Amino acid sequence: MSKPVSPKSVQPKCSQCRKNPVSAQYRPFCSKRCADVDLNKWLSEGYAIPGAPADVANEVPGQEMSEDD
Ligand SMILES: [Zn+2]
Repeated sequence: MSKPVSPKSVQPKCSQCRKNPVSAQYRPFCSKRCADVDLNKWLSEGYAIPGAPADVANEVPGQEMSEDD
């Protein structure tokens, strides 16, 4: 027993920059800045899905359905 290991001494690093210790407020990131960077990356990747058919409803303003006058 020469090395007392305390788990508290191990600070996880930020998932984004991997430099700064994780902030309790912005886990798993060190700051809002890093959290935003990751979020933006996530969103832009999510929007750039190739080949995904856009599920847009066919909303043509009443041209096909002519009402009976
Ligand atoms: Zn960071």
